[in-house]
Amino acid sequence: MTGAATSPASPLARKLAERIARDGPISVADYIEACLQDADDGYYRHKAAIGAGGDFVTAPEISQVFGELIGLWCAVAWQQMGGPPAVRLIELGPGRGTLMADALRAAQRVPAFRAALRVELVESNATLEAAQRLALHDAGVPVVWMRELAPGDGPAIIIANEFLDVLAAEQLVFREGTWRTRCVGLGADGRFAFTDGPVLADAALPDGLPAATEGDIFETRRRAFSDLAGRLSAAGQPLSGLFIDYGHQTSGFGDTLQAVAAHRYADPLLGPGAADLTVQVDFAAFGDAVRACGLASDGPVPQGEFLGRLGGVERASRLMADNPSKAATIEAGIARLMGPTGMGSHFQVIGIRSVDLAPLPALAAVDSEHSAS
Ligand code: SAH
Repeated sequence: MTGAATSPASPLARKLAERIARDGPISVADYIEACLQDADDGYYRHKAAIGAGGDFVTAPEISQVFGELIGLWCAVAWQQMGGPPAVRLIELGPGRGTLMADALRAAQRVPAFRAALRVELVESNATLEAAQRLALHDAGVPVVWMRELAPGDGPAIIIANEFLDVLAAEQLVFREGTWRTRCVGLGADGRFAFTDGPVLADAALPDGLPAATEGDIFETRRRAFSDLAGRLSAAGQPLSGLFIDYGHQTSGFGDTLQAVAAHRYADPLLGPGAADLTVQVDFAAFGDAVRACGLASDGPVPQGEFLGRLGGVERASRLMADNPSKAATIEAGIARLMGPTGMGSHFQVIGIRSVDLAPLPALAAVDSEHSAS
């Protein structure tokens, strides 16, 4: 097929190439948004995505301990709200429904919390919604699905694992003393290629960054984060939430755009819609967006630290003792989630809450813990 280099193969690639040929290069954020959410061919519209037979594996699929500890965390967050008789438990991007199923099973240990629950799942992907319905068919609590976060009344607890990273990120590139929007255009060979877009009159970078040098890239989800934080703060009081993702605690420069398909890294510009496309989550920026909407934030802390404080090792040991034939798998799973050179440090956890609630469990800053001694 000699035409392969010049005529992009998939319908989404053709659609994007036509759009760029007609209107000019599109921003990286618009490119990611199209790849992930295009109504017909976006990655997150239909792909099964998660699990051994999909493209990537997530924490709840690695160990049941993850969802169980989060379920108990939610029960404590509910108690900190004064134990209201009705509470919305909202999960953003619930994947295969595994986290929620494990959380609800663990919550059986706090019957008044379970009795108060109404579960709301926010999911854009019809294939994953079907998996969630299967995983939760005998959940024993009311469960409803929605395509996007809807405003609602009353106390709410939000959980979101690997959801922030599906929100499209803008890349800015520093050239000759000014910031420009990084774009995707068409190269001379007809393939997609990165290109510098328009100069930004006001790049509005956060304080505390080092001086930029030629070619530095800054990644920002400013628009997506403030939209989400606005929805969350409008969703009714009191509110507590837990966001977990691959990312960094402080803002900095660097190109972290990556595509993953079938458990391997892929070229982000090849096969749009066929791979998961992400940039790392900037937790400092998410915290800023949340606080700008009148909420408080706790953390971020590394995932290993968070799970450790919730008793992850102890819970895994109990499971191993109860299931000796699966002990090695259980041990490997918890080590993968908590290990300081892997997910334990590469993933961060941040809590958000109404300002009048007490700080959330297991999310106090690491420094303050040391300063107490
Ligand atoms: N939390 C799950 C899945 C993470 S993958 C886990 O830990 O296994 C991201 C999830 O967000 C998927 O369920 C995906 O379909 C969903 N998603 C992606 N874009 C979305 C959007 N715009 N609105 C709602 N859900 C979305």
